[in-house]
Amino acid sequence: MKIFRSIPETKNFVGALKNNRASIGFVPTMGALHPGHISLIERAKRENDVVGCSIFVNPIQFNNKEDLEKYPRTFDEDAEKLINAGCDFIFNPGNNEMYPKPATEQYDFGQLDKVMEGAHRPGHFNGVAVVVRKLFDIMNPTRAYFGMKDYQQLCIVTAMTKNLKLAVQIVPCPTIRETDGLAMSSRNVRLSREARQIAPEIYRILHDAKQKHSLMSPFELENWAKNEFSKFEEFTVEYFEIVDSKSLQSFGNWSDVESAIACTAVFLGGVRLIDNLIVY
Ligand code: AMP
Repeated sequence: MKIFRSIPETKNFVGALKNNRASIGFVPTMGALHPGHISLIERAKRENDVVGCSIFVNPIQFNNKEDLEKYPRTFDEDAEKLINAGCDFIFNPGNNEMYPKPATEQYDFGQLDKVMEGAHRPGHFNGVAVVVRKLFDIMNPTRAYFGMKDYQQLCIVTAMTKNLKLAVQIVPCPTIRETDGLAMSSRNVRLSREARQIAPEIYRILHDAKQKHSLMSPFELENWAKNEFSKFEEFTVEYFEIVDSKSLQSFGNWSDVESAIACTAVFLGGVRLIDNLIVY
C-alpha cells in the first residue's frame, strides 16, 4: 500500500491509473478508523479496480477548538487496518499541503445546511464541502463512499456533486453499529465507561421512535423521544428531528413526505454523538 503526503505525487499516481482506464474508489476519512470506515473500504474494493483512502483531520470543519484538539489521531494503526482491508493507497496530507492559503470558497446549499448539524455547527458544512471538493480534485475518483451515519453530510456532498456536475458517483453506505446498537464513531473512544454503558440508549430511542411513528404526529414523536432522553441525566439533547429524507425539512403529517428520517445529536459526558434512522 502506498502512502502519499503531497498533492502532486498523489495526482501523478492517480493520473497514471486513470490513463490505464482503472476505476478508482475513494473513501474520505479523518482517521481513527473503525469497522464502519472499513466497511466503506471493502465496498469500494468490490466495486472498483483501485481503492484510495484519505486521512485528514480537516480543521475548517470543526467549529469547536477542543473537539479538534481531542480528535483521536492513530495513523499507524489506521494504515495497518487499511492494508488488511486491501486498500491500495492512502493520501495523508498536512494542513499546509491542503491549505497553503486560508480557504475562501463559500457554498450555497439552500435549506439543506440550515437545519440540524448545519444549524448547530456554524461553518461545518462549508468546511466539509471545501475539503471534499479539493479531495475529489486530487483523487479523481470514479466512485466516492460516504456513510449514512453522517446523513446530512451525505446529502450535502450529493448536492454539491450535482450542482457542480462533478463526474463522481456518490455511494451511500449503511451505518455499522456495535452489537448493542451504538453507531460506531471515532469519538466513541472518548466515552467514559459509565457513558459507554448508556450510549446504546441513542439507538434504542431512535428504534422505538420508528416503531411508534404511526401512533402519533411527527412533532409528538420528537417530544416523546426528547422525553425518553430526559430520563437519563447524562444526556443533553441538542436536537432530535424528524425530517423529510430528501429535503431534510420538518413536516406536519406523515402523509406529507415519501420517506422520513429521525436524526439526533446528543452530548454524553462531554462527547457529542450523532445518529439517525430511516423511519420509513
Ligand atoms: P469520518 O472519519 O468520521 O469523517 O468518517 C469518514 C466516513 O466514514 C464518512 O463517510 C462517515 O459517514 C463514515 N462512517 C463513520 N462512521 C460510520 C459507521 N458507523 N458506519 C458507516 N460509515 C461510517
